[in-house]
Amino acid sequence: MNSSKPVQDIEAEIMQQGIKQINEVERLRELVGIYDDIQKSRISMGNRLGCKRVGGKWVCKRLYTECEDGHKILLKEGKKRDKCPICGKPVKIVEEVPSEELVNIFERLVKTEKEIEALISNEVLKFPEFTKFLVFIKGIGAVIGAKLIAYLYPKEFEFNVNKARAFSGLAVMFVCPKCGYWYYAGKSSNGMPAVPSNEGWKCPVDGTKLVGTSAKGVPYSRKAKALLLGVLPRNLIMNGGIYAKLIKKFEEEVKAKHPDWPKLKVKRTAIRKAVSLLLAQYFAMSLHYRKGVPLPEAYKVVLGKVYDMLKKHEDFITAPIVDYYVDVKSDKYKQQFERVIKELGINKEEVVEWLKKKRVIE
Ligand SMILES: [Zn+2]
Ligand SMILES: [Zn+2]
Repeated sequence: MNSSKPVQDIEAEIMQQGIKQINEVERLRELVGIYDDIQKSRISMGNRLGCKRVGGKWVCKRLYTECEDGHKILLKEGKKRDKCPICGKPVKIVEEVPSEELVNIFERLVKTEKEIEALISNEVLKFPEFTKFLVFIKGIGAVIGAKLIAYLYPKEFEFNVNKARAFSGLAVMFVCPKCGYWYYAGKSSNGMPAVPSNEGWKCPVDGTKLVGTSAKGVPYSRKAKALLLGVLPRNLIMNGGIYAKLIKKFEEEVKAKHPDWPKLKVKRTAIRKAVSLLLAQYFAMSLHYRKGVPLPEAYKVVLGKVYDMLKKHEDFITAPIVDYYVDVKSDKYKQQFERVIKELGINKEEVVEWLKKKRVIE
C-alpha cells in the first residue's frame, strides 16, 4: 500500500475491501442456493421419469406391474413385485418410455445444473479458503467447497470454530438424566451453566453427572448439518483420500475406547472428529489469509477456550492436513500446494511424521 495516501483514502479502501468480501460471499451463497434448487428439481423430475445414468448417458424409462384386471402400478428401481397390491392377482412387468418433450426438459435441467456448477467453480476460485486449502482435499470439489464457504463463512463466526459447530448442530449437548436440564454451546434449559467437576460436567440443579448426546430440540442449521455430517463425509470416504483414512483411524480409536458402542455410533463419532478437525483447519486458514494471523496463532482464536487443553494433546497439529503431502488430487494444483506450504513455512516431513504416527499412512 502507498504510505503517502491520506488516511481517509486508506479507510475507504479497507471499507471497499470489506464490502467486496461480503459481496463475494453473498454471490457464492446465491449460486449455491440456485444450484440446490435446480438440482432438487432435476432429481425429482428424474425420479418421476425414471431417469438413470448409464455409461455417462441418461436413460429414462419407467417400470410398471400390470395385472389382468388392468391395475397398473409404478415399480420403483430395484424393487420386485409378483402380485398386484390391489387385487392380489399375478402381474407382468411393463416398460414405459416417457415422452420426448419431457425427456428434453429433463435434459435441459441437467444442462442448467452443469452451467451453474461451472459458475460456482469460477466463483469459488476467489476464495483463498478454497484455493489454498479445500482444493487440496480429495472429496472436496467446487460445489462442496462453495457450500462450506456459503454456509459456514469463518468471518461470520468470528473465526471461532465452536460457534460454527454449535450453529451446525455438531456440538455436544449435555443432558441431566434426572431432571432434564440441558446445556448446549453456551446455552442451557434454565439459563444456568453446567458445573465443571473432576468427573465431568454436573447438573446445576441437582448435581447429577450430565450425559453427552447429539443436539436435540435446540435451533441449528439443518443445511449446515446435512453438509457436514452427510454430503461432505460421504464424498471424503468415497474418494479415499487422507480424510477417509483419518475417519477409519478414528473409528478404530473410538471402538477401542468404547467396545460396547454400536457400529453406527462409532462411525458417526469418528466422522464428527474428522469433520471437526477439517473445520478447525479451514477456519485457521481463513483467519490466516483474511487477517494475516500466523497459522499457529490463528488456532487460539479458532479453538477458543479449548485451545490450551488441545495444544497439550500429542495429536495437536497446526499444519493443514490435506492429500498433497503424500498423494496428488490433480497435477494442476501440485505447484500451488508447494507454494502454499512454503509460504506458511510448513515442514512437510513433520506432517508426514504426524500422519505416520496416526498410522494414516505407512
Ligand atoms: Zn390387480
Ligand atoms: Zn438435573
